[in-house]
Amino acid sequence: MSSQPHVIVVGGGSAGLFAALGLADHARVTLIEAGIDPGSPAPSRYVDEHRYPECDWDYTEADTGVHLVRGKVLGGCSTVNAAAAVRGQPSCFAGWGNAWQWDDVLPTFRAIETDEQFGAAPYHGDAGPVVVTRLAQGPLDIAFLDAAKKRGHADCADHNAPGAFGAGPWPTNRVDGSRWGTLAAVAPLVRGRVDIRASSAVRSLVADGGRVTGVEIDGVAGRETLAADLVILAAGAFGTPEILVRSGLDLAGVGAGLQDHPWISMDVDADADAIMARPVSGGLLRYDGAAAGESVSEIQIFPFSAFIYDPSVAPSRYRMSVGLMEPQSRGSVEVDERNTRIHLKHLRDDVDAERMAAGVRHAGELLEDMATAGVVRLPADPWWQAPDLVAAMRARVESYNHPVGTCAIGSVVDERLRTENLTGLRIADASVMPVIPQANTNLTAMMIGARCAELVLADDFA
Ligand SMILES: Cc1cc2nc3c(=O)[nH]c(=O)nc-3n(C[C@H](O)[C@H](O)[C@H](O)COP(=O)(O)OP(=O)(O)OC[C@H]3O[C@@H](n4cnc5c(N)ncnc54)[C@H](O)[C@@H]3O)c2cc1C
Repeated sequence: MSSQPHVIVVGGGSAGLFAALGLADHARVTLIEAGIDPGSPAPSRYVDEHRYPECDWDYTEADTGVHLVRGKVLGGCSTVNAAAAVRGQPSCFAGWGNAWQWDDVLPTFRAIETDEQFGAAPYHGDAGPVVVTRLAQGPLDIAFLDAAKKRGHADCADHNAPGAFGAGPWPTNRVDGSRWGTLAAVAPLVRGRVDIRASSAVRSLVADGGRVTGVEIDGVAGRETLAADLVILAAGAFGTPEILVRSGLDLAGVGAGLQDHPWISMDVDADADAIMARPVSGGLLRYDGAAAGESVSEIQIFPFSAFIYDPSVAPSRYRMSVGLMEPQSRGSVEVDERNTRIHLKHLRDDVDAERMAAGVRHAGELLEDMATAGVVRLPADPWWQAPDLVAAMRARVESYNHPVGTCAIGSVVDERLRTENLTGLRIADASVMPVIPQANTNLTAMMIGARCAELVLADDFA
């Protein structure tokens, strides 16, 4: 029997696999993942695994009935996501408290990545497992980036350089075109060192007084209770509050701070061959959309093939997307024994609606410029020219698939990811983000998992 402490990581997603990797040499680690372990990941280029129902938790937004994708598979959402790899501005972390300021998190961001183009820069890494690369641009990306630059946006070669804004290539997690999430990048590093129990769902945490002592799982061998010295809960922004509530653990604030980036799509037509030359977007515009007197309010605009996410549409459908990256609206995840009700509350805040409207108008200008250049065809009556643009957007807004904040630092957990009333437990996934980063959330979730391992080593195993 090993004399090392036993750590159970619940959830083998973006954060959970990094937490397991960081502790593998210092503890006996068991990783429990509800979804399947696909083994060596099959190459996935443009088609997304979230079309496969067995890899999806099948959540629904309570107010709109819209399906919300969450990966139920080893690698979690990083196995089904769009592989965009943006880590946000240093200012994103200002409100996260001690241990999470830019100088604290930058070494971890650097350690997890190999940036193929900018690895030598002081704010990048060149030896981590997660490959970050920039896709070659197709003809429509080039036309889009040209239109953005003609409208005055700066050229931006590296969207992950601190303070970067402008138009340039998307950083992505891809190797030879295939998605490079934690299933591809981290699972091979922990196999044989960590006991990975896939197809095993944690029903509840087991607690004795104020101490978490293990988990109850429904695994391949039936129902089991596993004892642990430490449980790291990394089941994601919806899964983590579900487990806490269904364990009967009374933690104030669970589910209350949900944030997500609202996403608006503007569809036009273009030459299908030009789209399919690079159906995943190779071009991203990020700019400060703040009105006078406001602090920075980041907007993302980027085009791609609509066909990737919706195979029922024609390959000639070209989708301009607008993301509001610093939303003020907050929603909630309400959990009881049987149901989970997710209220995203996108664009309910009037400031959010106005900022998004300005972003949509600007995307419309770029589309008009591209139409004038002859590379896209606008619809006869574009919805984004409606007199009541806010109402039109509220009817169309979708999730950018970046839910965070349901067990936030400063609310449910402290800066070291511990809860106030329970020992033997840390929470480490997108649920702990107290403010949504002005970036796609995957790299930040990975950083949180790796940082959790660092905090455990410093606090518990020193
Ligand atoms: C369709 C889609 C596209 C996206 N595109 C991008 C993108 O391009 N770029 C980007 O940066 N971000 C993207 N994201 C978001 C990003 O992938 C997530 O923010 C990130 O993966 C969250 O990491 P996490 O560790 O918090 O949760 P997850 O990666 O979701 O991991 C949670 C894990 O816990 C498991 N789990 C849950 N409940 C239980 C239980 N009871 N027992 C055992 N295991 C359990 C889940 O199956 C899952 O594997 C996208 C997400 C989706 C869904």
